[in-house]
Amino acid sequence: MSSFDFEGHITDIVDYPKPGVVFKDITTLLKDPDGFEATIDAIAEHFKDAGVTKVVGAEARGFMIGAPVAYRLHAGFVPARKPGKLPREVRSESYDLEYGSDELQIHADAIEPDDVVLIVDDLVATGGTAEAQAKLIKQFGASLAGMGFLMELAFLNPRQAIAKVTDADVFSLVQVR
Ligand code: IMP
Repeated sequence: MSSFDFEGHITDIVDYPKPGVVFKDITTLLKDPDGFEATIDAIAEHFKDAGVTKVVGAEARGFMIGAPVAYRLHAGFVPARKPGKLPREVRSESYDLEYGSDELQIHADAIEPDDVVLIVDDLVATGGTAEAQAKLIKQFGASLAGMGFLMELAFLNPRQAIAKVTDADVFSLVQVR
């Protein structure tokens, strides 16, 4: 595991985007060349022997981490996007938010049943976004190698939510307790 001080390079923004929430701003880590490289290397290193053929990253911060991890693993990158953004036939999965719901879509020809898929995101909080992506990947009949996150808000118990849909390996560089 890398000795880089990941947590020390992530900025806490109190009361953003609403009162009572402490937002974890990862842009202060990603702008640091050593921090960005160490982040991508550590996630890719953890899954290097998992036989990953595709990395799925959700709009928008999942793109920033997922695409370079895919490059490092010599896997393809598949964007999971909000409705109306992908131009061709899609498969969709809805998920609940604190207030209301949201939806993620993947192009219908983006994943094959024999693919081994890794989900990558900057941060897992309740696990709802990761859960929706795992369900999407199941729709394609592909196997899920695991999930890699830069940061896990462990006090929100995302692993409990994720365990309801998959027993895949969950890896986080930083756990906030
Ligand atoms: P979840 O669905 O509750 O696990 O929330 C995770 C999703 O929300 C990820 O796609 C994150 O990018 C985003 N997110 C939630 N909280 C934060 C935060 O504090 N910083 C950055 N992204 C966040």
